Amino acid sequence: MTSTNGASGGQAEPPLIAVDGLSVSYRSEDATVAAVRDVSFEVRAGETLALVGESAAGKSTIGHALLGLLPGNADVQARSMRYAGRSLLGLDTEELRRIRGEQISMIFQDALSALTPTLRVREQLVELYQAHRDLSREEAEAEALAALQRILPDAERAFDAYPFQLSGGMAQRVMITLAVALQPRVIIADEPTASLDPGVRMETLQILEELRDQAGVGLLLITHDFGVVARMADRVHVMYAGEIVERADVKTVFRAPRHPYSHGLLQSLPGPHQSRLQPLRGQPPDLSDLAPQCPFLPRCPKAVSQCRIEDAPALEPAGDEPGHFAACYNPIAIPLRGS
Ligand code: ATP
Ligand code: MG
Repeated sequence: MTSTNGASGGQAEPPLIAVDGLSVSYRSEDATVAAVRDVSFEVRAGETLALVGESAAGKSTIGHALLGLLPGNADVQARSMRYAGRSLLGLDTEELRRIRGEQISMIFQDALSALTPTLRVREQLVELYQAHRDLSREEAEAEALAALQRILPDAERAFDAYPFQLSGGMAQRVMITLAVALQPRVIIADEPTASLDPGVRMETLQILEELRDQAGVGLLLITHDFGVVARMADRVHVMYAGEIVERADVKTVFRAPRHPYSHGLLQSLPGPHQSRLQPLRGQPPDLSDLAPQCPFLPRCPKAVSQCRIEDAPALEPAGDEPGHFAACYNPIAIPLRGS
């Protein structure tokens, strides 16, 4: 894990991403799914913020909300959502298109399905360059190939391939090339290594680290893999059922998680700190029918009567470390691991 304050990231600069009170619901005919509820976070230049949590916690929804890529059945509310001090709310299609790719880009969770199946890789990259830069076809092709060569050793072959002709690792690298091509200042990396074999996984992480450490890119890293979190993240936000239930710097999350969910999650997911995985018991709640109490209550080994009586707790300072917050009435009291 590395940390810098970033090339341009003095504390006086506004954060690259500042989200305050983001909520997203998906409407369907018979239900409304409260996928993200009152979530706030910041990403600064040259740092990595990791969003972790089980499937359906709302992680990808947050990434898509930042880029204005949510489907038509999504309702988005936020007190504010800013990129480098500038509001992302209420932008028109053209303004959003300019920000996407040039300022903020996303490595999508499923690389193969995020690529356009009917276009060769060459066309997808050229289209991106020509949409954002004043380049001739030849210039755009040269830029595109050079960009792919920086990330994929066998770039010429992939350049003329259709997405279905790519291996998972190649598709992922094409996806990364598209995400970094215009030198964005923020990259949302949604499970960037999930489908990759160990060698490609390591190289992918190195590419992201270089962008962060040399170009001061702010990384919003979404992952199930605590090994990746330990290596990459400066700070961690743990999400459960659409909410952030704990946030802290990465060392604190590993050494002294306060929320029982964070603790259970650490035991259940691959990472550097446990030799045997212990699955979390039970299932996350139905997001279309949430009780007012803590959403983790039915699964919580530490629940007390207050948890059953009162509405869900808010994030409150926890532990001794600055910036450590947990939303729990009966947090884990003792650091669980030595340093
Ligand atoms: P995973 O780790 O599996 O990728 P996630 O944390 O990224 O999960 P999201 O994809 O953000 O979770 O989904 C959050 C919730 O919103 C889930 O309950 C999901 O079923 C629901 N959801 C996501 N997209 C839509 C949609 N287009 N329409 C309706 N519900 C949706
Ligand atoms: Mg997801």
